[in-house]
Amino acid sequence: MQALAERVEAFVAGAAFEGYEPLGFTGLKTYDPPAEALVGRAVEGVDRRGKYVVIEVEGGLRVMFHLSQAGRVDFEEPPKRTKPKGSVVRWRFSNGRAVLLREHGTERKAGWWVVAPGDEGPLAGLGPEATSDEFARWLRSSDDSRRVHTVLRDQRTVAGVGRGYGDDILHRAKLSPYATVKSLTPDERERVLGAIRDVLADGLERERKRTGGLSESKLGEHFTVHGKVGVPCPDCGDELQRISYESHEVVYCPACQTGGKVLADRRTSRFVK
Ligand SMILES: [Zn+2]
Repeated sequence: MQALAERVEAFVAGAAFEGYEPLGFTGLKTYDPPAEALVGRAVEGVDRRGKYVVIEVEGGLRVMFHLSQAGRVDFEEPPKRTKPKGSVVRWRFSNGRAVLLREHGTERKAGWWVVAPGDEGPLAGLGPEATSDEFARWLRSSDDSRRVHTVLRDQRTVAGVGRGYGDDILHRAKLSPYATVKSLTPDERERVLGAIRDVLADGLERERKRTGGLSESKLGEHFTVHGKVGVPCPDCGDELQRISYESHEVVYCPACQTGGKVLADRRTSRFVK
């Protein structure tokens, strides 16, 4: 999302909103201030916070959007008039460009917000950024009984990691998917913090090299272990394993992370042919 924010900024910074076309019924999550209030105002900058891209607009307004699992952004120059499947909104800008937000599939979780000055909108309650000093202090001292992986997925505790990078971070830190925060030694806590920095920095570097629309689902191509069950571990060659949950799976390397032990996965039989 950091790379996406940078590209949106490069594409429209300094230009004014000319208009917007709501292309989906549920995309806009706010009604006050109205989206019409954006028209004629310049884009002053674009940042990322957690999984949200935040567009700073003249006069203190902010437009925020997130892509959920299957969203993507198309950069259009000149603006198109089409309505691709899953379209959420198209914003047109005074520099002859447009940004189209859309979503694959039927989840309808991608959305956008128009937020008044001083209002945090969907950012309210978001935890500190993963690479911040604030989160480092928390991790060094916390006796949270949840698993590290659970914490990394919880945007209220730490923003901007998510499940894919969570797998890669635990792999890099050589910790079990079952490791809890309170069980970590000081050395292991530092390994987690170092792994967060390395994994997110690598991810950003790869995303900066991409061209075309950005899609969170396509990030999967770039993970080290996430989504790669059955593939040899890039560090040791052991076969990557998974633990399946209702909404997600955790992928790990037994040799690197659990002392060679394959953790119970009750749903495995469902996936075995
Ligand atoms: Zn390994």
